[in-house]
Order: sequence, then C-alpha cells, then structure tokens
Amino acid sequence: AESTGLNFIEQVVVADIQSGKYDGRVQTRFPPEPNGYLHIGHAKAICIDFGIAQKYGGVCNLRFDDTNPIKEDVEYVDAIREDIHWLGFEWGKECYASDYFPQLYAFAERLIMTGHAYVDEQSAEEIAQQKGTPTTPGINSPYRDRPAEESLDLFHRMNAGEFPEGAMTLRAKIDMASDDMHFRDPIIYRIIKRPHHRTGTEWQVYPMYDFAHGQSDYFEGVTHSICTLEFVPHRPLYNYLVELLMPEGTTYRPYQFEFNRLNLTYTMMSKRKLLSLVQQGLVTGWDDPRMPTLCGLRRRGYTPQSIRDFVSMIGYTRYEGTIDLSLLEHAVRNDLNKHAARVSAVLDPVKLILTNLPEGHDEELEMVNNPEDLSEGTHIQHLTRELWIDRSDFMEEASKKYYRLSPGGRDVRLRGGYIIKCTGCEKDAEGNVTAVLAEVYLDSKTGMEGSNRKVKATIHWVSTAYALDAEVRLYDRLFLEEDPSGVPAEELKDHLNPDSLIVQHAFVEECLRDAQVGDHLQFQRVGYFTVDPDSCPDALVFNRTVSLKDRR
Ligand code: ATP
Ligand code: MG
Ligand code: MG
Repeated sequence: AESTGLNFIEQVVVADIQSGKYDGRVQTRFPPEPNGYLHIGHAKAICIDFGIAQKYGGVCNLRFDDTNPIKEDVEYVDAIREDIHWLGFEWGKECYASDYFPQLYAFAERLIMTGHAYVDEQSAEEIAQQKGTPTTPGINSPYRDRPAEESLDLFHRMNAGEFPEGAMTLRAKIDMASDDMHFRDPIIYRIIKRPHHRTGTEWQVYPMYDFAHGQSDYFEGVTHSICTLEFVPHRPLYNYLVELLMPEGTTYRPYQFEFNRLNLTYTMMSKRKLLSLVQQGLVTGWDDPRMPTLCGLRRRGYTPQSIRDFVSMIGYTRYEGTIDLSLLEHAVRNDLNKHAARVSAVLDPVKLILTNLPEGHDEELEMVNNPEDLSEGTHIQHLTRELWIDRSDFMEEASKKYYRLSPGGRDVRLRGGYIIKCTGCEKDAEGNVTAVLAEVYLDSKTGMEGSNRKVKATIHWVSTAYALDAEVRLYDRLFLEEDPSGVPAEELKDHLNPDSLIVQHAFVEECLRDAQVGDHLQFQRVGYFTVDPDSCPDALVFNRTVSLKDRR
C-alpha cells in the first residue's frame, strides 16, 4: 500500500472511482463549527478535504456545522471563510447545517411516527445514569413506550417554546442493551432558547451532532465524509441514521473515514481552551502571534505554503501522536528561505566608527534582495562613517577562535561593503564599550581587487544616519511544557512561557520604511520577521516568525 504514494483515504477514493461506486463522483466537505477560529489542526483537515476534491476532479463544500446557538457566532463564520481562502482553497457550495433544520425536523417527526424516537421527560443526568456500562445493559426510560402521538405532540410543543430548556429531549429508540453505547437511545434533539445567528428565534429545538452530521452529508450528496479518529465510535450510529433516512430503494450513501488529528508540542488545539486564553486576556486575541490559530500564524509570519508543506510532511495515518513544534518551524524556515527579502536589523546596537572615512561619507551600496532568487532584484543601503553593529560582533579581548571584530584580530567583511580591520574601542567611565573603531581597506569593496582578502566573518550593519527605529516582538512557544493539553482552563496562566514575548528596540535599514503588513523578511543573522498590523511608517513593528536556526 505504501508504494502507491497515496494515503489510506486516497486509496479508498481511487478504488471508489475505479469501481464506479458514485459514478466516478467525488464530493467532500469541511465542516467547522463556527464557535472559534480555525487552528493548525483544522489546516490538516482542510488539506485533505479540499486536497482530495482537487486531486480527483471533485468538489469540496464548506459546511458550517451550526447546530448549537449557545456557542456560535457570525464573527467566527467570517473568520473561517477568510482563513480557508488564505490557506489557498476554494469551496464549491457554502452550506449551513441550519439550512437543513426543516428537513431534520421532518425526519425526527417521521422517526417518532414509525416508533424510532420518543420524547423523554427525564433530566440529562437521569438519562446518563440509566446508560449502563459497556458490560452492563442500560435501563429503559419510563417514557420509552409512550404512544407516538403523545411524543409527536410534545415534540411540537417543545419547539413552540412551551417547556424550559432541559425539561425534555427527543431520543432515538434503538437498544438500551446494545454493545455500542452510542446506540443506547441517544438524545437527538434538545431545547435551546437562544437566538441562532442565522435562523433567529425560528427554532427552539436543535439537533445533536449525531443527528445532523450524517444527514447533512446525505442531503448534500457527500461521497467521502472525512473526519478525525474521535468520531470512529460514532460511525455505526452515523450509518444507522442515514439508513433510516434514505428513501427505500435508493443506493446512494455517504461514508465516514477517519484520520489521526494533529497535536503539536507546546500548544493546544482545543477551541474551548483557546477561547479561554483570549477571554482571560492571557493573549491579545485569537490572532495573537503565539496562538496556533491560522490568523495567529499568519500574523506571526507563517505563509500558506509553509503550512501546506508541513501538513504534507506529517501525513495522514490512523495512529494518534504528537508532532514536534520544530517540524512546523522547519517548514516555515524552508519556505521563507526561498522568498524572504534579506535586510539588516541591529537589535543590540553598538556604534562602529570607520575612522579612515571622511565625516559626511555617504555611499550607496546595491544589496541583493535574495541570493536564492536573483530575480527578486536589489535595494540600496547607505554606508556612512558611523554604523550600528550588534554588540556581540565585538570583543575587546578575544581568543583565536573569535572571527569577528577585536583589536588586532582578524579582518571582517561588512555585508555588501568593505573589509575592515578593528583598531580599538571607546569606553565610558564605567568601562562600557561606547564605540568600536575600525579602518576600512579602501580597495576591498565587493567587486574590487582587494575584496578577495581572506576573511572568516561577515557582519551586518546599518548606517546611524539612515537607520530607522523599530519595535521587534520576539515570539517563542506559548507554553512551558511539551503537553499542556490537560491543563484546566482556570490554570492556563500558570503554565505559560514567561518569555513567549520579548519586546525590543532595533535599528533597521532605511528600505523598510515602506514595508507592508505581511511582508516576509530575513533580518540577516537574526531570524525571519514580518511586518505586524500595528506597524506604521513612523513606528515600525516587526514580529519574529522564527529564529534562523533551530536552537534546540
Ligand atoms: P474542538 O473540539 O476544539 O471544538 P472540533 O474538532 O470540534 O474542535 P470543528 O470545527 O468541529 O472543531 O472541526 C472541523 C473539522 O476539523 C472536523 O472534521 C475535525 O475533525 C477537524 N479537526 C479539528 N481539530 C483537528 C485537529 N487537531 N487535527 C485534524 N483535524 C481536526
Ligand atoms: Mg466539532
Ligand atoms: Mg468540538
């Protein structure tokens, strides 16, 4: 099976196409509940749902699984649409489970009238207590055998708003002794008296997931209903209800296929916990660059390509596991290395004075934007007598192994410019270095004869006269521990990495004045950065997407 290069779900799709099972038709859906923003785990689902449709000439619909008005909101609907587009996918139809409320209600009425459902007046707790255990049968509800007409009347009155939430439910009448716990008369409708973001106050009863999902797949004509492994135990009930729904003599049925969900180290995928981080103010919002949400990753500087590459690297199996965050970082480094413009930024500055250049020296140097792709052109950087360099690129007393600036030490190249020789430094009264002094080999500019002097180090720099002030936000993983998924919402704050955001000042190259939100940059020798939406030409803000190398 491995040798086909197809994952196990693609193999099923190919076999179904070849056997003519759906007349060659392939239809998938991506079914988010609009109760939060999409995260990197959803990207894994999106890539297979949309990817299979693309690859096999099918269609993937976007279906909002909006059956619970308590947690859902149109804010999330809009964000989900935007994030799927950003990832690079286009849906066929935009569907809503709420569009099927009339059909689902009619189906429920039919189940009642055919003896397959009844209204139970017990509380959810009582019903749970009667469920039994996997090895002992459950107890039949005292309402189980009430006349169908009575259930139907109560069901109508539930929807008319005559009873409070929790007063009664509609249950499928299957088998309280079934080996499959999901078959022990599952609740299929409950009363919710909360306006729905699309249907308003039209309904006061809402279907449960198991009663809406397979039916929605059926109404839309889905062929392969792909989801994550936690739905395996729901599959028999999915099939059972679809079977009851189908008109006699028809053969079309959707089938469910499950793959392993994505878990990532140092973060969590539960929308409920992510919402709690936002509500507690532990992050600045769903798009905080430390969040595993797609909008957070976008703001952090991740590219859609890097996320699709990551998903294709981890693949689809039926084994649960946790993926190391460093693999996601590897994917973004790899993509940004190809596309990010190389510029200079100095985060911990010390002045470098080129003592043999005249005051007022001002020279335009042409810098390659991307050595990986020369078609991306060049930009101008001004070289002046005084520059900012990084403090760590100078050592007053250095060993032979230190290749950067040190008095009497080795020659060093200024990136894109001259080779220089360090001659000393200036200090304040406390002995802190306030300026590094160096002489330029005037014949050593890139392209000149003296430029082939042997140097072991190239350092970056920005002109003190031209440099722009910027704020840099250095992001790191949000949680201290590898697996924070078990931390209760109230305790999340005690598990955050206190260094997940460090804000620093930097001097950056003048060409960044016009940088646009979402531009991808490599601050040479520092890391990959992007322009934050908070940024403006007078107050630049850059987010670190990822360091240049994996430090772990
Ligand atoms: P939560 O349980 O946090 O609310 P969810 O799984 O219910 O999340 P949905 O909006 O219902 O979120 O998910 C839409 C689709 O995305 C489903 O098919 C689901 O299987 C898939 N999905 C959700 N989380 C992951 C994940 N971590 N990895 C892969 N697929 C996921
Ligand atoms: Mg869900
Ligand atoms: Mg859920």
